[in-house]
Amino acid sequence: MISLQDIERYYQNGFTKTYILRHVTTEIKEGEFVSIMGPSGAGKSTLLNIIGLLDQPTSGEYTFLDQPVQRLSEKKRSELYKAYIGFVFQAYHLIDELTVYENLETPLLYKNVPSSERKSRIADILDRFNMVAKKDLFPNQLSGGQQQLVGIARALVGQPKIILADEPTGNLQSAQAEEIMQIFKQLNQEGITIIQVTHSEKNAAYGNRILHLNDGKIVEDLRVESIA
Ligand code: ADP
Ligand code: ADP
Repeated sequence: MISLQDIERYYQNGFTKTYILRHVTTEIKEGEFVSIMGPSGAGKSTLLNIIGLLDQPTSGEYTFLDQPVQRLSEKKRSELYKAYIGFVFQAYHLIDELTVYENLETPLLYKNVPSSERKSRIADILDRFNMVAKKDLFPNQLSGGQQQLVGIARALVGQPKIILADEPTGNLQSAQAEEIMQIFKQLNQEGITIIQVTHSEKNAAYGNRILHLNDGKIVEDLRVESIA
């Protein structure tokens, strides 16, 4: 599903190149649940953003669903993103001025999903996450855990093949964090590929593989026994 071949990413400041990722080569198969770990500044978010088509490598070859990402037009990349990828963020990134329902509708409007289909997809996901009664509330009327549920729901209404999450429980209490990880685990069992950036060993234990990054390089690639 995902193939990274000798990926590099640097930022150019005058004559100086600062490398964020170096010689990153790996494959991620459909159905995996991967955790990217490593110290702050190791390049974890940059790698996640490249995998999620939000950023581009400066060299190397990235193949996503058999498509040579760097050789695609901006338009084609955006279509791929809309069709297959759902992003979940640490700070939720909900739109404060919109209700829960409207936040969930936003990606569907953007994808031109017809009205009746929008309604049924949103109803299903609100029901699944026990949030029907909250649909007309605004994000600031919800707890952090509930806001993250909306963040995940917003990713899911797009029916993605893959969910990318950058520290999805970084702002949450441990009980809420566990609930979010249980949901990821469940989604993974339903066939959605999951890649998360996390500092938490506990969160990583929900997945089946840990990629350790340090100084822009993969220094360890571990298979783990996923906890039930
Ligand atoms: P991590 O997620 O592991 O903390 P990041 O991928 O966010 O690491 O960033 C790795 C390094 O790249 C950090 O030192 C960060 O300051 C730097 N960085 C990120 N984005 C930019 C940018 N647009 N320009 C320059 N440096 C950047
Ligand atoms: P995170 O929550 O992953 O640590 P940051 O706060 O480090 O995110 O970065 C937020 C945004 O700022 C990212 O899009 C990143 O690319 C950008 N960024 C981070 N460090 C730098 C930097 N040194 N110069 C320019 N942009 C940066």
